[in-house]
Amino acid sequence: MADPLLKIENLSVDYRRHGKRVHAVRDVSLELNEGETLGVVGESGCGKSTLAMAVLRLLPDRDSRIPGGKIFFRSQDLLALDAEPLRRIRGGQIAVIFQDPFSALNPVLTVGDQLEESMEVHGGGRDRAKTLSLLERVRLPDPERIYRAYPHQISGGQRQRACLALAIANRPALLIADEPTTALDVTLQKEILDLLDGLRRDLKMAILFITHNMGLVSQRTDRLAVMYAGEIVERGKTADVMSAPLHPYTAALLRSLPRLHKSAGKLPIIPGQPPDLSAVPGGCPFHPRCPRVFDPCAEHIPALLPHEGRSVSCHLYHSPVAAGR
Ligand code: SF4
Repeated sequence: MADPLLKIENLSVDYRRHGKRVHAVRDVSLELNEGETLGVVGESGCGKSTLAMAVLRLLPDRDSRIPGGKIFFRSQDLLALDAEPLRRIRGGQIAVIFQDPFSALNPVLTVGDQLEESMEVHGGGRDRAKTLSLLERVRLPDPERIYRAYPHQISGGQRQRACLALAIANRPALLIADEPTTALDVTLQKEILDLLDGLRRDLKMAILFITHNMGLVSQRTDRLAVMYAGEIVERGKTADVMSAPLHPYTAALLRSLPRLHKSAGKLPIIPGQPPDLSAVPGGCPFHPRCPRVFDPCAEHIPALLPHEGRSVSCHLYHSPVAAGR
């Protein structure tokens, strides 16, 4: 079998905040194959965006460190790459779109200039006709006008489409989409997600889709990884995870999704707050909020182990192991 396009092995990322060490990502392993879509889901602060930043090597130099782990893209160790080969991969073979398209675009360059600059940096040269066809491809109305416009002269939805054009300009093999629709209204969300689906099929891109909203990824990903307190707690095929979640946290996230055909009423919430990552509770990090907590949970850390064709870290499925942190 071919090597995965992206392989993350036992990755950990720490930050230093107010003199404290924050363990933002802990021992995360993931694989993503060519053309596949993997959703990484969890509440704010669970480490999912830090994971994306680590893949792109965009973590802040002064405050972050990677105490362990490897990231391979097409078998190249991204963490060991020098600046120049890394620059060729970033924005070329790996692209990203962020939640806030305004801050992702350069305010003093027109959309057309930004697209052409990106293609030029990656060896494609400046080509106005190609740039206009890219703007058409992301279904921007009046591409000539958008080409000449500065980011502040177009709407939020148009800016996110311009970011998408920028992301696909060099035909990446991997697109990292970090909460790409959170800042948009529901209609625009659907349009951007449909557009992403179409581009993925046409360009045969893999997508790492990062979101707090399980509803968004339920129909649009092949596999899911659910993160809590910097760790993956459940990983498997999307259809399996959505239809029969194993981990109590995954089940709680799903219960809190609004259902179109169910009578309106109060949606269940997950009690409590995600933990402060500088002081994660001992044992299972989810135990203070877990509706199924039992004896070993507060003392023993569950390991992420295979169960029924997926992986889950919960004592309900595996015998407790000795606590190690
Ligand atoms: Fe809940 Fe215990 Fe499983 Fe953690 S290990 S999710 S506390 S049942």
